[in-house]
Amino acid sequence: MTDFEKIEDQYGLNLFQKRGITLVKGKNAIVWDKNGKEYIDCTAGHGVAGIGHANDDLVAALSSQAAKLITCTGSFYNEERAKLMKKLVEISPKGLEKVFLCNSGTESVEAAIKFARLSTGKTDFICAMRGFHGRTLGALSATHNPKYRNDFQPLIPGFHFVPFNNIEKIKENITDATAAIMLEVVQGEGGVHPANPEYLEKVQALCKEKEILFILDEVQTGFGRTGRLFACEHYNLKPDLLCLSKAIGGGFPVGAVLCSSSINIALGKHGTTFGGNPLACAAALASINFLLKNDLPEQSAKKGQYFAEKFPADKLEKVRELRQIGLMIGIELKEKSQPYITKLQEMGILVLPAGVTVIRLLPPLTIEYEQLDTVINSLTKVLSNQSED
Ligand code: PLP
Repeated sequence: MTDFEKIEDQYGLNLFQKRGITLVKGKNAIVWDKNGKEYIDCTAGHGVAGIGHANDDLVAALSSQAAKLITCTGSFYNEERAKLMKKLVEISPKGLEKVFLCNSGTESVEAAIKFARLSTGKTDFICAMRGFHGRTLGALSATHNPKYRNDFQPLIPGFHFVPFNNIEKIKENITDATAAIMLEVVQGEGGVHPANPEYLEKVQALCKEKEILFILDEVQTGFGRTGRLFACEHYNLKPDLLCLSKAIGGGFPVGAVLCSSSINIALGKHGTTFGGNPLACAAALASINFLLKNDLPEQSAKKGQYFAEKFPADKLEKVRELRQIGLMIGIELKEKSQPYITKLQEMGILVLPAGVTVIRLLPPLTIEYEQLDTVINSLTKVLSNQSED
């Protein structure tokens, strides 16, 4: 252990399961540790570095904006913020007209919860079992897993959980107090479980019929991850609120909530000091422009398909199921995934868990095909019986 690893352990709260390596730099889908060892990064900072590490356009935008103006609260107009807001509305599903900018995924969910309560005058939400929406108290109240919730009770009342992909259970849980239904399009932290197409469309129709708001949390699925710019574009979906973060800033902390005209928020009812600062807006603009210019959603679809065709899931004893949508990939094992994640790291491949038995891959959308081949070969080796020798 180097001195600064010891220092981080000494002074940091012990919140993260450390993986025993220190990353010092990155370029596209590769990161290097302090010893110069190279890794193919299929974590991308938990799905953040969609445009790859140290993207030249992003670096240039950050440097030039940093030299101009870093901070500027929402009380003052700012060109970068205006451009980002316009861009987000232009690229998002039709009907989303207004933007709230913040700094993280959980803040975007937090804001959506408040906006839904304010706009409807109602208190309750229906969310999905296995869903994940963040760690602040509102977003945590919407998150199902007792592992995250239990130590923080009592949470905000009025959140009801139903099995994902079950429309009848939603119907049973709607009451006069229901403000909104909030779902992920693909449950990411819950193990990479895509929604059935007809499910989300039925939820949307139900929301219309019952005059309930429909909130989609695309914090993880947004910005090309699933092979479309937004995962809801795989279906005919027009949410009232769309929560975004992670890849929006290419690695710089940014969050956003896009709102339809049914969302009405009076002056001063919500706010943020850092949200929409010019540096974050410049990062998000550069990141989105790069994503669009290089057809990264399309690339994500093709590369995800390539992975699914080449990875021999059905020939590997240990694999229960491969779930893949674009470059959002979950390999469910018949046993715990952690030993394999550790082994892959030793082999120079960084992957994520999602729950206890799933290996999750969220590589930069710019990952090269040869790198995908290396990932596939390493996974195959690790998950075949020979790896136990
Ligand atoms: N919503 C979803 C779907 C997520 O996957 C996450 C994080 O993984 C969050 C919200 C919370 O985002 P953050 O960690 O930026 O607060």
